[in-house]
Amino acid sequence: MTSHLTTDPAQTLRERLGDLVVLPDDAEYDQARMPWNTAVDQRPAAVARPESAEDVVQIVRAAVDAGLRIAPQSTGHGAAALADTDLSDCVLVSLVGLRGVTVDVGTRSARVLGGSVWDDVLAAAAPHGLTALHGSSGGVSVAGYALSGGLSFYVREKGLAVNSVRAVQVVTADGSLVRASADENPDLFWAVRGGAGSFGVVVSLEIDLMPLADVYAGMLLWDASRAAEVVPAYAAWTTTAPESATTTLRVMHFPPIPDLPPFLSGRDLVVIDGAILESDAAATDLLAPLRALDPEMDTFARIPSAGLVAVHMDPPDPTPALTAHAMLGSLPDEAVAAFLEASALPGVFFLELRHLGGAATRPAEGGGAVSALDGEFLLHAVALAPVPEALAPAGAVVQAAVASFAPWQVDALALTFIDGGGVDPAQGYGASLDRLRELKLRFDPEGRFAAARAV
Ligand SMILES: Cc1cc2nc3c(=O)[nH]c(=O)nc-3n(C[C@H](O)[C@H](O)[C@H](O)COP(=O)(O)OP(=O)(O)OC[C@H]3O[C@@H](n4cnc5c(N)ncnc54)[C@H](O)[C@@H]3O)c2cc1C
Repeated sequence: MTSHLTTDPAQTLRERLGDLVVLPDDAEYDQARMPWNTAVDQRPAAVARPESAEDVVQIVRAAVDAGLRIAPQSTGHGAAALADTDLSDCVLVSLVGLRGVTVDVGTRSARVLGGSVWDDVLAAAAPHGLTALHGSSGGVSVAGYALSGGLSFYVREKGLAVNSVRAVQVVTADGSLVRASADENPDLFWAVRGGAGSFGVVVSLEIDLMPLADVYAGMLLWDASRAAEVVPAYAAWTTTAPESATTTLRVMHFPPIPDLPPFLSGRDLVVIDGAILESDAAATDLLAPLRALDPEMDTFARIPSAGLVAVHMDPPDPTPALTAHAMLGSLPDEAVAAFLEASALPGVFFLELRHLGGAATRPAEGGGAVSALDGEFLLHAVALAPVPEALAPAGAVVQAAVASFAPWQVDALALTFIDGGGVDPAQGYGASLDRLRELKLRFDPEGRFAAARAV
């Protein structure tokens, strides 16, 4: 039989995949290649948009036959972490069409399709009084977050979200659809829990849900002119805060934007927010020293647990952001002073301290390549780059904000917060790196999968 395939890889994809694939000459290409982080100008050889696991199998096989690599992407919240990778020979597999969640109340678990976001899980779980170890944004995907660690507002008591993954279904480099769990393909299960997209396209995950219908959560907000009082008080408070409390502190600088509520628009603020897994009375006692600082706003109260995803006020819409982070072992007075200084650097949108430690630092029994994270605090700097000319200065300012914390840094990074900028992702894998690289050679010997935070 005569082959109708052309030698042009893109045309090969078109002939094999038809409308499942969008090519650079197609009118839809610019929309299809756009990630959530619009500071990233990703230009893959093609964008494939599967709607089923079988579509993903066909896409991976066609890409391999065309000599192209494959980059899975669910939302593009982590697109900056992929931006150092040349995508000109890659099919970007955009999983936006592969969403859906089925809750199993009996086993307190959910089956989540590969492109699903946390909002999907919460909508399905909340009616049963269940929730999950989601992060601060409901728009982040379950796969991209949980398989790279996942730091939730429950992390100090419940540990990293990656430890709540029971099984995954992955399309591997040879184009087969395999299930990996503690009992099936255990090496792949170990590797993907940390190695994420380096090992294949995850088409579904099974995750634990928690019986938690409501939670004591919210935020305290002050004008940034109070930062010199609030930041040291928070640092002191965290030294005795129990593992049931997971909180963050941010100094934030909002431009005057009419769409923002008046308490944010054009304002410089200090915000403490988070969740406390205690009774109302115990949580009230715990927050008393912070409330004594007389915040301008105090929303801490018992809320439906699905509402926790709104507490951090992450932007739902695509946003052009550059970030940098470091893990800190402690927060002595000198580090607090450095935080106050760095948070006022012109161009910083916000500087954040996420209080970690506790269960986040304890490796899970039967855990995967990543199951814990060293450090008591995650320091996170974010700058906005709404126009291309702002990219370099925004990148420079987030690096500068983090650089001054070298004396308190521990030798670790949180994979989910690695966001490009020349950072070596190896630092996020620690002692697992060698075995991960061996397994990468076994499961993907030709290096077909291009992923954020590549192993
Ligand atoms: C506003 C905002 C809030 C955030 N909040 C938190 C937080 O509270 N806690 C926290 O820990 N992190 C947080 N993050 C970081 C976020 O968890 C990571 O960037 C995460 O990797 C994003 O996953 P994604 O799939 O949505 O992004 P994408 O850019 O789509 O994916 C990132 C990478 O994940 C892999 N991936 C995604 N989907 C699949 C799949 N189906 N199969 C195989 N590989 C896949 C790929 O390697 C891809 O390159 C936040 C990020 C943003 C922008």
